[in-house]
Amino acid sequence: MTTPQRIPFINLLKEHAPFNAELEEAALRVIRSGWYLRGPETKAFESRLAGMLSVDHAVGCSNGLDALRLIFKAYVVLGYLRPGDRVIVPANTYIASLLPVTEFGLTPVLVEPDPRSFGLDFHKADEIMAHDDIKAVMLVHLYGIPCWNGDICRKWSERGVLIIEDNAQAIGAQAATPGLYGSRFTGALGNASASSFYPTKNAGALGDAGAVTTGDEQLAQTVRALANYGSDRRYHNIHCGYNCRIDELHAAMLSVVLDNLDSINLRRRHAAAIYDKNIRNTLITKPLAPEGCVCVWHQYTILCEHRDILKQYLEIQGVATDIHYAVPPHLQPCYASLRHSPLPITENIADSILSLPIQALDDDQLLRVADSINRFSI
Ligand SMILES: *Cc1c(COP(=O)(O)O)cnc(C)c1O
Repeated sequence: MTTPQRIPFINLLKEHAPFNAELEEAALRVIRSGWYLRGPETKAFESRLAGMLSVDHAVGCSNGLDALRLIFKAYVVLGYLRPGDRVIVPANTYIASLLPVTEFGLTPVLVEPDPRSFGLDFHKADEIMAHDDIKAVMLVHLYGIPCWNGDICRKWSERGVLIIEDNAQAIGAQAATPGLYGSRFTGALGNASASSFYPTKNAGALGDAGAVTTGDEQLAQTVRALANYGSDRRYHNIHCGYNCRIDELHAAMLSVVLDNLDSINLRRRHAAAIYDKNIRNTLITKPLAPEGCVCVWHQYTILCEHRDILKQYLEIQGVATDIHYAVPPHLQPCYASLRHSPLPITENIADSILSLPIQALDDDQLLRVADSINRFSI
C-alpha cells in the first residue's frame, strides 16, 4: 500500500501554472521597458481593478497594511478624522486591521463578531452607535466572506460615519445588497477600501502589493499624493507623505492575476461547496455565509471544541491545516492597553478555529480532507 501524498496548505506554483507563461511575459515586458515605477503598467492595473469592482478610483500601493494606513492618513489630512476619534473595529480580525487605527491616535472600539460568519455583529455595533460618538467603522471581509448590512450601513453613512473596508481577504466577493456607491463588490461597498495582494491572498502578487479603492475623488487624490511623498506634482509637497507605491513589475503581474481571478475564485468556491456538502461530523461547525452573497473563501475555517487534537489528527492523516488567528489583536502584547473588557466570542473563536486547505486542490484531495474529518472522534 502506498501512503497518499500529503495535502499542503498552500501551493502557489500549482495556482500559477495555468497562467505562468503570461506572468513571465509580463515580467519580461517590464524588465525590457526600462520603466519601473509610476508608469503604464500601474495605470493599466489600476483601471483593471477599478473596472472589476465597479468603483471610480483605484490607487495601487506597496501592500495591504499601507493601503489602510493611506486611507486613515488621508481622512486625518482632510479633517474627517482627528486623534481621539472613536472607530469601531471588529475584535475578530487580523492585527493589520487595527494597526492603522491606533497609529493615527484614533480610539478603537472593539466589537464582537457573528460566531458563524466571523464578521462584525452589525446589531451589536448599531447598539454602540446609538450612545457612542463613533466617527468611522472598519468592516473586515474575513476569510473572503462579505461583511455588509446595506440598511444599517446606509443609516450610519447618513449620520456621517465613515465606512472603511479591509478587503485584504475578499477580492472578487460580492455582498447581497449594493454598497454606498452602488457596487456589490467588496472593496466598493463603503467610503474607502484597502485590498492586499500578499502572495497567498486570492489575488496574490509575487511579492508585496496593495491598493486603495474608493468612489471619492478627493480621497483618491489625497491617497495618491500621500503614497508619493505627499506630492501632487513634481517637487511640490502638499502633505508630509510616505513612499508606498506599487512597482511596475508587480502591477504588470497583477494585471495577469486579475484576468485569472474569476477562475481562481471559482475553484475556491467549488472547494468550499465540496466541504459544505461532504463534511458531516457533529464535533465540527462549518462556516455559514450570509444569505445571497458571493464568498471567495480566502480561508475555509471550521470550529471544533477539540481543535488542537483535531489539528494533530489531521497532520497524521497527511492534511496540513492552519489557524487564522490563534491570538486576537487585543490579546497581543502590543495591545495590552485594549484588554479592559473581555471579548468571549472572539476569544472562543480563536481557541476553536481551524482553517482547512482550500487553495489549488483537486476534488479527490478535497474529498480526502472531508473523509478524514468525518472519521475524527474523541
Ligand atoms: C493580509 C491582511 C492585511 C494586510 O495586508 P498586507 O498586504 O499583508 O500588508 C490586512 N488585513 C487583513 C484582514 C489581512 O488578511
